[in-house]
Amino acid sequence: MKRTRNTVQRRAVLDSLLALPGHPTAADVFGHVRESYPNLSLATVYRALHALVEQGAVLEMRVENVSRYDGGQTPHHHVVCRACGAVADAPAEALPTPVLGNLERASGFVLDRHPVQFTGICPQCVEPAARE
Ligand SMILES: [Zn+2]
Ligand SMILES: [Zn+2]
Repeated sequence: MKRTRNTVQRRAVLDSLLALPGHPTAADVFGHVRESYPNLSLATVYRALHALVEQGAVLEMRVENVSRYDGGQTPHHHVVCRACGAVADAPAEALPTPVLGNLERASGFVLDRHPVQFTGICPQCVEPAARE
């Protein structure tokens, strides 16, 4: 029975994650999932998120030491703003595949998952800085 309950909880957490815009934190997911499942605890949400990450259904990324979660199924990279912490997606095609071949040759690893996180300044933050 435990297994069934876990599956239902994971499904609920994944649905909330997909319903939220951007790359929510566990607290964001918790706030959303509670509307439909008031009995779920934050600890349960964390456990469900970890399980989903291990299954490969969800991508976990660290932004300023906070975990954010991404339920997007298409492979993509991330660009993170150093100034405001905004996270945006960049298509996988934006990074040329020869780069991966070079990394495989240099490391001997066979790379299958390779989300890359770039850091910079987002368009909203570039403007005021340029005027200073
Ligand atoms: Zn910014
Ligand atoms: Zn993303």
